[in-house]
Formats: sequence, C-alpha cells, structure tokens
Amino acid sequence: MRSINYLPATPVIVTGAASGIGRACAESLAQVGRPVAVWDLDAGKAGAVADAVAQEHSVKAIGLAVDVSDLDQISAGVIASREALGPIGGLVHGAGISGVATLEQLTPETWSAVLDINLRALPFIIKAILPDMKSQSGSAVVGIASINATLGNMMNPAYSASKGGVLSMSRALADELAMHGIRINSVSPGQIETPMLMQGLEAVPEVLEAFKRHILLGRLGDSAEVASAVRFLMSSEASYITAAELVVDGGNISSQRQ
Ligand code: NAP
Repeated sequence: MRSINYLPATPVIVTGAASGIGRACAESLAQVGRPVAVWDLDAGKAGAVADAVAQEHSVKAIGLAVDVSDLDQISAGVIASREALGPIGGLVHGAGISGVATLEQLTPETWSAVLDINLRALPFIIKAILPDMKSQSGSAVVGIASINATLGNMMNPAYSASKGGVLSMSRALADELAMHGIRINSVSPGQIETPMLMQGLEAVPEVLEAFKRHILLGRLGDSAEVASAVRFLMSSEASYITAAELVVDGGNISSQRQ
C-alpha cells in the first residue's frame, strides 16, 4: 500500500476568507498546520481573521486587502503573500458575489462584476502562483462552485454561468497542470448558512422553507461542513483526485432529480 503523506504543509491563499465559507476554509487549513494568506476586500476584516487563525492554530498567517476582480491587486497580493509565508502551495477561491438579477434586470456591469470575481480571478491567481506550485509537491487548488451550476436559477443567470465556468475551466486546468503534479478540483455547496445566503433570504423568509424541502438532510449546511471537503481535496489524502466536482449539498440536487 502507498504510504500517505497526510497533508503538505505549504502555504495556501484563501480568497473571500474574511467571511462564511472562505473563513471556514482558512480556519480548517490552519488547524492542520498550513500557513494561510487571508484575502478579502476589507483589510481590517482580513487582518482580524489572520490574527485569530495564527493565534489559535500556531501557524503563520497574513491578512491582505485584495479585490480579486482587479488583476493588478492579484499580482500584488501574490507577491505579499509569498514574502510573508514563503512559496505558495495551494489556493482556495472562495470570494464570490451572487449578483441577483433576472434576464430582464441584467446589465453588462452586473454580468462583468459576477464573472470577474467568481470566475476570472481563479485562472489568474493560479497563473501567478504557478511557479511556486510547480516547485513543491502536493500543490492543489479548489474553486468554490455551486449546485447552481447544475440546477440553474431564474434569479441569477450570471452567477450560474460563473459557477458552471468554474467547473469546466477547472477540468481544463487540471488537464494542463497534471503533468506538474498539480491537482485542480471544485467544491459545489448547496445552501450554506453564511452572510451571503442569509442576507439574500431576509426579504423572502418563505424561500428558506422551500430550500429546506429540497434538502434530503432537512437543514442548511454549515460553512465548516464545506471546509472539511475543501481541506480533504487540498490534502494528499486526495492525491488521485483531480478534475472532480465534490457536491456538498445535503442531498439537494439528488432530491430535485426524484
Ligand atoms: P460570504 O459570507 O459573503 O463571503 C464571501 C466573501 O467574499 C466576503 O467576505 C466578501 O466580502 C468577499 N468578496 C466579495 N467580493 C470580493 C472581491 N472582489 N475580492 C475579494 N473578496 C471579495 O459568502 P459565502 O456564502 O461564504 O460564499 C463563499 C463562496 O461560496 C462564494 O463563491 C459563493 O458563491 C459560494 N457558495 C455559497 C453558497 C451559500 O449557500 N452560502 C452556496 C453555493 C456556493 P464582502 O462581504 O465585503 O463583500
């Protein structure tokens, strides 16, 4: 049997890490000893998460204000992360916006904002950290997609397109980067109790009950339940998994196929 080197200890960039799923991923990776670069829009919030993670888990962490829709900020963020933590060995792209707008409400500005943050940032961060990832073993990337990529939703065509793009682009990059031993996977959460979901539901509480009716496990998910799937895919426990989508939805997609 192959011996398993449980987790590479290389630093990981986590985008959108000041809140929700991104924050849970940063905490989960730090818990197993991985230094973390906490990227988010707000420097204060990113710094506070980095400080908390470093203190609780005794790892190096840095919080940085990086708007991932800005390619120059991505380049600067990678340089600052590398300077603080050393060569980067992985990425979790959790930054995202929902961009709620039906076809009639959709504007080119909303389309570009959603696609630039949710999708375009992913390949350009990977490109910026590629020399680091090539130089270390066990490098891996997880893009946070969504069950929306499969189910679609009339309220956010741009979001659905961006998440479908995460799935298909990750398979293409997995093909290109496999020769370097770099794995690229996607995690598709269902309805997870985070600020993004709960703020969207404030005006329409009845939608929450409709969501729950579709979830086999009968409840919303917790960010930590997504983060444990992400941590698995980032680890050498998942050494033979690439170009895959791991759905973490309490059985939502399955129930809608019945
Ligand atoms: P969240 O709590 O709103 O966290 C998203 C974080 O990303 C926020 O801190 C947000 O900052 C940040 N962000 C937004 N735009 C950014 C930008 N341009 N550059 C850098 N950071 C930016 O949302 P979440 O629910 O944890 O979502 C995390 C990921 O999971 C997203 O990709 C989302 O699409 C996906 N997802 C969520 C669910 C769910 O049910 N929650 C389901 C499926 C997929 P601000 O708060 O300052 O805007």
